[in-house]
Amino acid sequence: MINVTSPLLPPLNEYITELEEIWNSKWITNMGSAHKRLEQGLTNYLGVKNLELFVNGHLALELALQAFDLKGEVITTPFTFVSTSHAIKRNGLTPVFCDIKTDDYTIDVDKIESLITDKTTAIVPVHVYGHICETEKIEKIAKKHNLKVIYDAAHAFGVSVNGQGVGNLGDASMFSFHATKVFNCIEGGAVTFNNHINDIKTKLYNLKNFGIQSPEIVEAIGCNAKMNEFQAAMGICNLKIIDESIQKRKQIYTHYYERLSNIDGIKINSYSNENIKYNYAYLPILIDENKYGINRDKLANILLENDIYARKYFYPLISNIECYNCKQTFENAEYVSKNILTLPIYPDLTLKQVDLICDIIKQQKN
Ligand SMILES: *Cc1c(COP(=O)(O)O)cnc(C)c1O
Repeated sequence: MINVTSPLLPPLNEYITELEEIWNSKWITNMGSAHKRLEQGLTNYLGVKNLELFVNGHLALELALQAFDLKGEVITTPFTFVSTSHAIKRNGLTPVFCDIKTDDYTIDVDKIESLITDKTTAIVPVHVYGHICETEKIEKIAKKHNLKVIYDAAHAFGVSVNGQGVGNLGDASMFSFHATKVFNCIEGGAVTFNNHINDIKTKLYNLKNFGIQSPEIVEAIGCNAKMNEFQAAMGICNLKIIDESIQKRKQIYTHYYERLSNIDGIKINSYSNENIKYNYAYLPILIDENKYGINRDKLANILLENDIYARKYFYPLISNIECYNCKQTFENAEYVSKNILTLPIYPDLTLKQVDLICDIIKQQKN
């Protein structure tokens, strides 16, 4: 079975060395030594000024939205993992969906302004598949209308634009360190944010730690979203191999690109902007049934019959999920959601396995 992804795992002995340190210290959670070292390591690696660690990416996003005291409506994309809009909803905010572009599947900036009302307080764009949104345009609109911009950067670990880590963009960004992501802490997440927002660090810390600042001082009504030492230890070990692992992903992506880009009816995403350092997180292909001959669902089934698990990621579209009770339709997002398939990509995938997958895809072309 070739799965769509496989977690990045460090050499076991290195994790064991970290565990021995945890055992010796008898400090297993609550911002211990591993937590501090990971926070420092990630701040450096992502090239950001401020970073707060969380138990997972979802709570990082949910609490980041809360930290900015948002009210009313938040403009976001329906083409993302449900966590993005759940985080908005669970803050008592109303997600207002905006259609996406068909080239890189990020939010269509030209459609944002018409959705702004006097209730709008923020934009939550997603760097989907590690493709960076049109951030300059987004931030210009946000400035004009006095809106916060909080990026869901769950897919964008290690991505930089013109040498700048994407965690510096907007008012804040959320990264996910879930097992399925480019970099993992088993589960985990972080919020990165700019220096000039000086009370955000305190607010985020309070929100993840019951508002407890010191033994007798409870400053705010926070919850518990702390990253523990075992997660942090995993992150410390994985950070040592992350560059090598992204390099392997790049080779795999390049091989896929060479094999698939000339098949009529298959559009492979292009990580080709020279100013961007990509992380090759996902391998989405968009299938045009009229040209290719069969549709996405059929191809997914054929791959599955061959023990290859490709994912319909993201399907269904969030605006079509019943609990959102959204009556609108989004032409591009609907089309992409129905025709996209993400193929297996992870550092240990061999080029031979890539060939096998590409051969099957090629054989179906009529
Ligand atoms: C993974 C993911 C999240 C949530 O992160 P977790 O660490 O799994 O809680 C949020 N948004 C997007 C786009 C994701 O892919």
